[in-house]
Amino acid sequence: MGSLYDVVIIGGGSMGIATAYYLAKAEQKVLVVDQFTVPNIYGSHHGETRILRLGYGNGGTYVPLVKESLALWKELEEETGRTLYNQTGAISVGYPGSDFVKETIDSSIKYNLEYEKLDAKSLMERWPGITVPDDYVACYDPNSGFLYSEECILAYKEECEKLGVTILENQPVLDLQITDKEVTVLTADTTFVARKAVVTAGAWMPKLLPDLELEIKPLRKTFGWFETSEENLYGSQFPCYVFDTHDVGHYYGFPDFNGKGLKIGRMDLGEVVDPDELNRDFDSTPKEEADLRSFLSRYMPQANGHLNAGKVCLFSMTPDEDFIIDFHPQHENVLIAGGFSGHGFKFASAIGKTLCELAVQGVSNQDISFLSLNRFNKAMK
Ligand SMILES: Cc1cc2nc3c(=O)[nH]c(=O)nc-3n(C[C@H](O)[C@H](O)[C@H](O)COP(=O)(O)OP(=O)(O)OC[C@H]3O[C@@H](n4cnc5c(N)ncnc54)[C@H](O)[C@@H]3O)c2cc1C
Repeated sequence: MGSLYDVVIIGGGSMGIATAYYLAKAEQKVLVVDQFTVPNIYGSHHGETRILRLGYGNGGTYVPLVKESLALWKELEEETGRTLYNQTGAISVGYPGSDFVKETIDSSIKYNLEYEKLDAKSLMERWPGITVPDDYVACYDPNSGFLYSEECILAYKEECEKLGVTILENQPVLDLQITDKEVTVLTADTTFVARKAVVTAGAWMPKLLPDLELEIKPLRKTFGWFETSEENLYGSQFPCYVFDTHDVGHYYGFPDFNGKGLKIGRMDLGEVVDPDELNRDFDSTPKEEADLRSFLSRYMPQANGHLNAGKVCLFSMTPDEDFIIDFHPQHENVLIAGGFSGHGFKFASAIGKTLCELAVQGVSNQDISFLSLNRFNKAMK
């Protein structure tokens, strides 16, 4: 049996490695265990980039968290000298009456964010790579952009190592034995003991904590990089984008900032899968490429070129698409953070800090009551 840790983190992905960093800064003795490497290409954080939008739905409840997150990402950039954030701006586009665009604008007003409302004509004039029906509406936010997701995880990992965190890679956690005093973590090779645990296992949360019957469904999602036919239409001057269309669905993507092509993925739909058994080949069905092209051909026709690369990734969906961050209902020494529902990465910095505060002090300054586990029990009663 190994030495006693203050906190063990199960899953060193987006949320886990950020939590480890803040715990180490708070002088905790920390162990991170991941079944793969940190970062890796099997969970929810690979594929180079993740959008950070400041204006947000759900009555704007996430805006304080995203503001704090952005400030913390910038701090991490300064501390490490790495480039983690690219402030390209972001456009939210939709059909007339789209709740998605309306909520983005409403939250921008409520939280005094900088934004610009655009009609279809001015949208297409500003970015000629975009084609939309005449009645479409858009909101542009110049302060949003994207994070280099794997770079962010590497930055935290490097800082964790400097601060003395033990990071154990390629060690699947098979079981947790929890008492009020300690948590015993069992891997195939060995056993670890810590006073507290933070479980940040992404798409594997329901498998690791079966007794909790967590309402988290892993979804198989695909995205690709497409060659553009005209230079400068979708390059560095092009913003991150999210489109709520009336005909083909909800899509998001990134400018071609490095010559790999315009990146695009689909936000809605997706197949419920077992994260240990899914097909990880992008081209396992030709429908996947065709689906992305159905958006490009209508809305960004000059980006509907050769498919340079395609990847498969996992969302962890909750029924209301809000995260689950809470103490284990039976054990105050265990925190659970999962169900990031395809929009969690941007928050990893603030969530890592919040989980650290909860683990060390039992409370956090950040209001995350809307992310509690018992909201589902309430809904059922
Ligand atoms: C295609 C795609 C696009 C996305 N776009 C955006 C976006 O634009 N903006 C945004 O904010 N968010 C986006 N997201 C969502 C965001 O990436 C996720 O919400 C976030 O990465 C989830 O973090 P996590 O820590 O829960 O999971 P992960 O980062 O996957 O980490 C979980 C870790 O737990 C480990 N683990 C699991 N089980 C075990 C075990 N038994 N033992 C040991 N280790 C274990 C895994 O190996 C993994 O490393 C996107 C996600 C995908 C898939």
